[in-house]
Amino acid sequence: MNRRRPIPCSPYHWQPEAKPSSLRYDLLLDGAVRRYPDGREVCQDSPAGWREYKRRLEIMLSRQGHMCCLCDKRIRSLVDATFEHQRRRGMGAAFRDDRIYNPRGEWMNGAAHWVCNGEKG
Ligand SMILES: [Zn+2]
Repeated sequence: MNRRRPIPCSPYHWQPEAKPSSLRYDLLLDGAVRRYPDGREVCQDSPAGWREYKRRLEIMLSRQGHMCCLCDKRIRSLVDATFEHQRRRGMGAAFRDDRIYNPRGEWMNGAAHWVCNGEKG
């Protein structure tokens, strides 16, 4: 038996371009953090992103013994601390990376006083 069936009309429309947002980064931790293909992580400008940013800052602060990574003086509280990004030479500030450990598990970035971080520019 060779019954011909009509070709079903597909509701699926082929799209020439995928959404760029899904190609450029993955979202981690319920959307708090963007992860780029090169491994960088950036906390989102959202309440969840800020919570994660603060959490990472707190971890860095305690692993540094609450000392500023720039002036080596004590940071009294989390509100005085800011996320100090180590900038890789030649990469510029455009490549922000909010990771606190690199893929080898070594420390990355650090916590610094607001004033110290500001002075460095
Ligand atoms: Zn300092």
